[in-house]
Amino acid sequence: MEQLTIRSIAARAVVTPLERQVRTASGTIGESPLVLLDVQTDEGIVGRAYLFGYTPMTLKPLVCLIEQLEPELIGKRIVPQDLLRALQDRYRLLGSQGLLGMVASGLDMAYWDALGKAADAPVVSLLGGAPKRLRAYDSYGMVDPSEDEKSLRASLDQGFKAIKIKVGFADAKKDVEVVRAVRDMIGPDIALMVDYNQSLAPNEAIRRIRTIEPYDLTWVEEPVAAEDLQGAARVRQAVNVDIQMGENWWFPRDAERALSANACDLMMPDVMKIGGITGWLSTMGMAQMRSMPMSSHIFVEASAHALAVSPTCHYLEYLDFAGAILAQKNEIVDGGFEARGPGLGIEWDEAAVKRYAAR
Ligand SMILES: [Mg+2]
Repeated sequence: MEQLTIRSIAARAVVTPLERQVRTASGTIGESPLVLLDVQTDEGIVGRAYLFGYTPMTLKPLVCLIEQLEPELIGKRIVPQDLLRALQDRYRLLGSQGLLGMVASGLDMAYWDALGKAADAPVVSLLGGAPKRLRAYDSYGMVDPSEDEKSLRASLDQGFKAIKIKVGFADAKKDVEVVRAVRDMIGPDIALMVDYNQSLAPNEAIRRIRTIEPYDLTWVEEPVAAEDLQGAARVRQAVNVDIQMGENWWFPRDAERALSANACDLMMPDVMKIGGITGWLSTMGMAQMRSMPMSSHIFVEASAHALAVSPTCHYLEYLDFAGAILAQKNEIVDGGFEARGPGLGIEWDEAAVKRYAAR
């Protein structure tokens, strides 16, 4: 394969509209704050990826961090394994959680995208796999069963065979009402997951989960604070439904810590926190060793490549945070999503990027 050398790295912030707001027990995401990365190489290939900032407040600091890192990356070769190790060594004292971890993971994705584009192949092929249609679930925020009925039915009409909703309402009875109403509406053959977004203390989580257990849930996600691994392990022992977590694991070592604590039955790392594609590769081995089903968290484009080579591949979370600025729109076919190439299949719709530029 052609060697690629970094010439420059551009970071642009956008805030794009969402078709559907994502209301959670820990705050509402009403729009999509993104940082778009363009890693330009001397050879003419551009590696692209994006960061999801969660809130527009992070956009300027993220762009600034990337601008500060750029001088030390210019002239280096595109070698994802070297990038993560170098950044973690260089910033050992600062630590690589948080914004720096997001930038490192995002650059890793852009590097893989560049390698794929140079080879004119999808990243999944570089990883030894082939693109395939992955089972996806449509990911909702907190729903109102009557107001959102049309939308939920549209998801089923679109072919989804799995739906995730957020719970953790102020009144615990509302959790049960909503889960029951959605289960009634979608019927017994559609998988249903629920997500508490870390909103409960362990004892409260046990009480609440027991009340929604009868509705045949594929998983209950992050019932307690993500860093409370002992609490999650205690909840897991006390309930009869699989506990899902992973979106807040920073790099593979966090995954190892959670697995050692027996904190979950299922895992769903986030490619922007786990160390990009490279971090994912380490983590998917841990899932394989424990026969633990592995799903993804947002980042549908990159996750579709990584999940397709994951031995315990379970579900792809479908939440289209970048669709508004992508040249090629994301598409669900028969309830599934397939990786696109070359690279990660990420190109910008420059007119949309201009329109949604963050100020
Ligand atoms: Mg979640």
